[in-house]
Amino acid sequence: MKVPNYKFEGDSDALFQEVFEKYTNHLNPGLAKLMGFAGFGVEMYAEGCYIFDHESRAFLDCLGGYGTFSLGHRHPKVVGAIQDQLGKMALSGKAFFSKPAADLAEKLASVAPEGLQFSFFCNSGAEAVEAALKMAKGYTKRTKIVSTIGGYHGKTLGALATTGREKYRKPFEPLMPGVVFTTYGDTEELVAAIDADTACVILEPIQGEGGIIVPPAGYLAAARKRCDEVGALLIFDEVQTGLGRTGYLFASEHDHVSPDLMTLAKAVGGGIMPLGVCMGTEAIWQGVFGTNPLAHTSTFGGNPLACTAGLVALQVIEEEGLVSRSKAMGDRMLDAFKQIGRRHPDMVADVRGRALMIGVEFTEDEVGELVVAQLMKRGVCVAYALNNPRVLRFEPPLIISEEEVDSAATALEESLAETEELLASLV
Ligand SMILES: *Cc1c(COP(=O)(O)O)cnc(C)c1O
Repeated sequence: MKVPNYKFEGDSDALFQEVFEKYTNHLNPGLAKLMGFAGFGVEMYAEGCYIFDHESRAFLDCLGGYGTFSLGHRHPKVVGAIQDQLGKMALSGKAFFSKPAADLAEKLASVAPEGLQFSFFCNSGAEAVEAALKMAKGYTKRTKIVSTIGGYHGKTLGALATTGREKYRKPFEPLMPGVVFTTYGDTEELVAAIDADTACVILEPIQGEGGIIVPPAGYLAAARKRCDEVGALLIFDEVQTGLGRTGYLFASEHDHVSPDLMTLAKAVGGGIMPLGVCMGTEAIWQGVFGTNPLAHTSTFGGNPLACTAGLVALQVIEEEGLVSRSKAMGDRMLDAFKQIGRRHPDMVADVRGRALMIGVEFTEDEVGELVVAQLMKRGVCVAYALNNPRVLRFEPPLIISEEEVDSAATALEESLAETEELLASLV
């Protein structure tokens, strides 16, 4: 794939200053400072695997919007379908049936893990998690929720209560009560925490923000078994892992475990529309919506634009074979990164992941930040994990080419070498 053409014709310094000041005065002064300090530019244009900034510099997008841009930026098929839909109806009138919502729900049921027949549509990952937790509480009439340390489920009050990092939770307590945290990947601890009071267990099949943590074999299956024993529901939060990212359409397929509830967002809107989904079984939908069909609703949820994007995104994933492509490109990237890691054992503690969900763990937090800056300098966009700043995550579009994987590897190697020199010159 070749790098697209983009040139910003205006005064780039003036543009940066203007945007920076507006962030400082009207959005988030602290964030403006942090981003300005790190040297981030203004995003101007995106196409395929690339983002351009105000200085018309191209960045290979290895962050991929935390997994949002699985189809790349502005996939032409999704753009075309949305433009068509925009000519007919954008948001739902709410008093009518909507065909795009019906079509997407049917399509999702046909590809989702066994038993997940129903969908609730919303607009983000946190909202999808809110819906799943509410469904679980409503259906089981229980209140205890088991989550994991390092788990990331969003920052709204309910989802935040299950997010496994004190730094984000503490200042906003009391949050939704009843949540207990267990060590991610510790089967014994998890099983022991699930009891007859447990409404649900919420797990990412691979922890994303926790630092790309792949659980040991049998962990998800043990959760499934214990939930069945005590009548608790199993929620898989596939907001980041879903839609081919891990070499399977859904990451739980690797372990052959089906949840009772599953959340999707990020990639599900085709990288163009905000879309969140909470999927669940017929029994749960009967239990919650049977007595009150309006028990959970969202004004924008299920709107024709988002659902059209979702439907075409799934078609593109199938037509372009993006699930197997994710596996092939991910194996290539993981191999290359592992070799690079071995050449820099003082800085790189571990390289891990599955398909195009890859984490590079450094021996120190500060090294991670320096390497991010070096990679950005070389035109590769990355970031560290929110709940684990020591880990750089690579989640490029699944349409990435071999050449681009190789150029990301070269950039990583050079970035590590220069960081090493920099650190050596400091002592
Ligand atoms: C990003 C993420 C969320 C939250 O999604 P938002 O759209 O940012 O609210 C929830 N769960 C997981 C696993 C995520 O990666």
